[in-house]
Amino acid sequence: MSENTLLMAMILGQSLLIVVVLGVIGYFSWQFHRNNLKNIYRDQPEEKKKSSPNLESTSSNDALNVGMCDTHTNNRANGSCGICEKLLCEDCNMEIDRFHFCPEHFQLFTSNEWAMLEKIKTTPETTEASAHLFEFKRSKWNKDKTPMYIEIHYQINVETDQIESDVALYAIKNQSQKLKEELKASA
Ligand SMILES: [Zn+2]
Ligand SMILES: [Zn+2]
Repeated sequence: MSENTLLMAMILGQSLLIVVVLGVIGYFSWQFHRNNLKNIYRDQPEEKKKSSPNLESTSSNDALNVGMCDTHTNNRANGSCGICEKLLCEDCNMEIDRFHFCPEHFQLFTSNEWAMLEKIKTTPETTEASAHLFEFKRSKWNKDKTPMYIEIHYQINVETDQIESDVALYAIKNQSQKLKEELKASA
């Protein structure tokens, strides 16, 4: 065998190896891509089912975890109203001073003066101490749509190294005296 033939055989052999390696890589990436496509197509009918208002979705974990907007039922919720607790999407979530409101209660919040009814300081061990504020707010809303919101401030107590929170309940100023008494009576 001449030197040239040997060289040719080596080059041929190497090219063949490269072709085989490329082929294997190509095959696996195609498989991967196909699996992804399959997943996309498999997910689609479920997605449609969820967004269709005519079909009730009974076991949709996604809808439970994130929830859909109460007003725009095709949109995923990204928050809830600080007053009525309605689920809100990008289109109807109005933010002001780190509070989130539905359009109606954004209007109510910005056009009224608000007064604090009560403030409770809690630690991770005493979170229950503020529970009655949440309960009072919710029950008044359910009963006669009295608008109230809760503000929570977190801070670290440097002495105990614990996260403390100030939980404060607010109502419209001219209703606050009456509500303060009701809150006291409910405790
Ligand atoms: Zn609202
Ligand atoms: Zn919405």
